[in-house]
Amino acid sequence: KQGKQQQKGGGGKASEEAVTPKSEDFSRWYLDVVAKAELADYGPVRGTMVIRPYGYAIWESIQAYLDRRFKETGHQNAYFPQLIPYSFITKEAEHVEGFAPELALVTKGGGKELEEPLVVRPTSETIINHMFAQWVQSYRDLPLLLNQWANVHRWEMRTRPFVRTLEFLWQEGHTAHATPEEAEAEALAMIQLYAEFATTQAAMPVVVGRKSKLESFAGANVTYTIEAMMGDKKALQAGTSHNLGTNFAVAFNTQFVDEQQQLRHVHQTSWGVSTRMIGGVIMTHGDDKGLRLPPNVAPYQVVIVPIVKKDTDRASVNEAVDKLTAALKQAGVRVKVDGNDMKTPGWRYNYWELKGVPLRIEVGPRDVEQGTCVMARRDMPGKEGKQMGVPMEASAFVATVQQALGQVQDSLLAAATAFRDANIVDVSSYEELKAAVAEGKWARGGWAGSDAQETQIKEETQATLRCFPFEQPAGPHTCFMTGQQAAEVAIFAKSY
Ligand code: AMP
Repeated sequence: KQGKQQQKGGGGKASEEAVTPKSEDFSRWYLDVVAKAELADYGPVRGTMVIRPYGYAIWESIQAYLDRRFKETGHQNAYFPQLIPYSFITKEAEHVEGFAPELALVTKGGGKELEEPLVVRPTSETIINHMFAQWVQSYRDLPLLLNQWANVHRWEMRTRPFVRTLEFLWQEGHTAHATPEEAEAEALAMIQLYAEFATTQAAMPVVVGRKSKLESFAGANVTYTIEAMMGDKKALQAGTSHNLGTNFAVAFNTQFVDEQQQLRHVHQTSWGVSTRMIGGVIMTHGDDKGLRLPPNVAPYQVVIVPIVKKDTDRASVNEAVDKLTAALKQAGVRVKVDGNDMKTPGWRYNYWELKGVPLRIEVGPRDVEQGTCVMARRDMPGKEGKQMGVPMEASAFVATVQQALGQVQDSLLAAATAFRDANIVDVSSYEELKAAVAEGKWARGGWAGSDAQETQIKEETQATLRCFPFEQPAGPHTCFMTGQQAAEVAIFAKSY
């Protein structure tokens, strides 16, 4: 019967077949969800991605929160050119070394060979310093707190939609300060802002910490990171904040005259979150039925499905649905009505479950008679997540929905946190690390190893040093690799 109903419906390929079960093949599951929930499609050039409206709407939720917070913390938006003279990139030695393999170059323009190749921006420290050097004269011009919403290109070899693409959307903050203390405070404040976004909006628990020298941004003195555990236990670097010190300022002569009339280099930071965050949301919360979106980032927080079996019921059901929709919209709840009678209610339930909408409201003729409706939570399967007899009276209805949205938001975070904590293993030897990593888990232990030993671990186990977490267990610690005393514990894991 179901098959017939679907044929009758036609179109709507998205939910015609279920996604590959997550437990069976996580990678295929992810690609299925991206495709079938209509988040993104492949671009014609390898590694590029088309972000479809539903995926882009998630990005807009991310942007709305971050943009507001950036402005609240004193930053202004600006825009710099995408084409950067090649010579700029070569000015900071570590920067060019790190980025050279990933650069896309423009060598022709207007049918002619260019005198100097242009770099399609992979990040904007260089061009921004070129401008900062002209804008900053005195200590009165500082701090300079800018952010840019833009696309960037990095010629990545292994790609995956959202997680790692050749071109991605992001924001990049760039700041200049008079003192090293101010720059350090800024770099730390921004990684904490990202952590707050991840936790309160994306319901994604993150470990906030510092990268090892090997894993730091090319050109940074220190890189801070938020690391999240995905559903397959791999780590995802979901955002980074760099203290650049005076590295770019020295390369570009970004100097100011201080209060004592001394010429000094500015101290800088840069920080970014990209469309990778959407991949993080998918891989943190998704289940066998598809996407599960935290209400705070969901394009639609509620979907209302009117159930009309007889034409004579249509008017009364639609009238009730209109009232509920208006009440939710007035309360600022993002709501979608799916009144597509060509599809069965069951088909529509599946479709919106695949799309991860946090709450579903079902309204049929019997409900209208009784003045109540049915509410189903996406985060809880079957009967457990269903609430019958939800009052349709506007204020009671809105209150019930808002409370449930809060519960879904909280329960997704709680589930992801429990999952993460159950999969971090404390290790005290390299053997224990190998065993933990072989099980796909994160390994945490004292670390005082050399760069060479860090590389050895990467080569032998594929696990990388994700970060030295800010939250450190009580010491003293012993390095699991060298047996020496270690100042800090570090987390090692396989990652995206
Ligand atoms: P970075 O400037 O390298 O620190 O990058 C800032 C953030 O952008 C990183 O923390 C990642 O979350 C994200 N990112 C880096 N490379 C890519 C990529 N190829 N595709 C999507 N996101 C990326």
